[in-house]
Amino acid sequence: MLRFFLKAAGVVLVLSLLVFTLILARVSTTSPGSGGLRAELDRYPTLRGIFRLHSYGDGKTDYLLSKYKQIKLEIDYLPGYAPSEAMRLNLDKDLEALTGKTVSSFLSDEISSGENNTERYNETELSSLESKYRSTHTSGQTAALYMLVVTKSSEHPTNVGETMDENSFVMFDQEIQELPTYSTDELKLEESTALHEFGHLLGLEHSSSGVMEAQVEVSGGQIDPSNYWFSAGDLARIRSLRQKYAT
Ligand SMILES: [Zn+2]
Repeated sequence: MLRFFLKAAGVVLVLSLLVFTLILARVSTTSPGSGGLRAELDRYPTLRGIFRLHSYGDGKTDYLLSKYKQIKLEIDYLPGYAPSEAMRLNLDKDLEALTGKTVSSFLSDEISSGENNTERYNETELSSLESKYRSTHTSGQTAALYMLVVTKSSEHPTNVGETMDENSFVMFDQEIQELPTYSTDELKLEESTALHEFGHLLGLEHSSSGVMEAQVEVSGGQIDPSNYWFSAGDLARIRSLRQKYAT
């Protein structure tokens, strides 16, 4: 009898592994945002964890589904790189306009000086900072968004921002401060960098105009003001996503 149960347990185990592998294969071949099984799993933060769905676009339901009433934006930063209150208030308003939810950003941790003796940060260092310092996660009626502010990227030194997990991004503020237009457009540069990365988290790709352009356009020492906000096409994309997830 015991042998029978062991055998049966073995069969069940093999079958469950097979199903799990099939689901993983199915999930990984479907890109975020394209519907199907992955889009269904994306709706649940716990399942995203189990199936390792951490690409940009996988977390968009946190910011769009009506069950989440508010968004908390946690910001951790290197000493000297805390975003100003003015920038945060502008960004909160922008994100409220995009998502229709109440958004509140807050400065959480100053990263200890022991971890800031590197001038540039690679992906591994960034994700270990996120796992060490991040304290806000999506739960109940609150969706979490996470921003890490450091100096520069070591892999892509001219990048001003990058997505990390499906609900987090990094801002390379030293790189932003070195842009020729920083002295006149400090707030807008930081705000639009955050908006660009948030656009990716909603699943948007690079666009030929607006804030989702791959590169900030500077002409005559000025940034094209159209780079500060989403193009009409991207706004329409966001609107249709909001409709899709409004139920
Ligand atoms: Zn981008």
